[in-house]
Amino acid sequence: MPADLHVHTYLSDGTDTPEEIVGKAAQVGLKTVAITDHDTLAGNARAISQGRVMGIEVIPGLEFTTEVPAETEIHILGYWLDGQEAELNEAIERIQQGRTDRLFKICEKLAALGLPLAPERVLAIAGHRVVGRPHVARALVEKKYVGSLKEAFDRYLGFHGPAYVAHYKLSPAEAVRLITTAGGLPVYAHPAVSNYDQIIPELMAAGLVGLECYYIGHNQNQTNRYLELAQKYGLLVTGGSDYHGSLSGREVELGTVTIKDELMDKLRNEYLRRN
Ligand code: AMP
Ligand code: FE
Ligand code: FE
Ligand code: ZN
Repeated sequence: MPADLHVHTYLSDGTDTPEEIVGKAAQVGLKTVAITDHDTLAGNARAISQGRVMGIEVIPGLEFTTEVPAETEIHILGYWLDGQEAELNEAIERIQQGRTDRLFKICEKLAALGLPLAPERVLAIAGHRVVGRPHVARALVEKKYVGSLKEAFDRYLGFHGPAYVAHYKLSPAEAVRLITTAGGLPVYAHPAVSNYDQIIPELMAAGLVGLECYYIGHNQNQTNRYLELAQKYGLLVTGGSDYHGSLSGREVELGTVTIKDELMDKLRNEYLRRN
């Protein structure tokens, strides 16, 4: 039975609870599922508890958004992170605080554009989630400053928009090192989406162990290309659906992309060998 190693819950930008994810994993016949919320470990404990009840192996993980000078983002997945390591927890805390600080800066820019918005309202919309631009966009719609979320991004919040503010991010190598130090396995997520292969040697020097070759957004050529690169560099192969929940508006089901037992065993063995 296969494994889906890239899944978001409602603790980041997914819409399913951790318990719902595990229930769905059982329904679609997965044996293993990894929780990989953006910049947080918050859903892992609940998913693991539910996994014990339902007989599903849950790998506690996360997905760090990191920054390189070029106009692209590198996403780093971390697997088997138990949340017990201080340096990793501090980095996560720094990222969360950076997002709150950034929200206030976005609101200042919006006010200067004649669109006053209370940061407290945006935080309320975000609720238990990590606060981000989608919540600002919803607040802008609520205020009737824009007619749609898309308009909010197109006119104000997008990368080149007048209210864009970057938030604090780790560098890719820092993310890899933090995951490694915490006893986890770092993997370069959807490398064809970032299209920045020149970073792979630097990530390997920091401790990278795998490439997410199988990914919902990779076509067959891209998958093959990264399978070859993984072989060339001696990296393990992972994969996942990047499922964001049944209400996310993305038409991707949990388990749409999986890896077979043989690859899952290699990854697990590498983790067990280290720990
Ligand atoms: P943040 O992490 O706060 O910068 O927000 C990033 C999120 O905003 C992404 O995960 C998307 O869900 C959303 N987003 C980014 N750009 C756009 C866009 N042009 N239109 C709609 N949503 C977007
Ligand atoms: Fe996401
Ligand atoms: Fe990603
Ligand atoms: Zn993701």
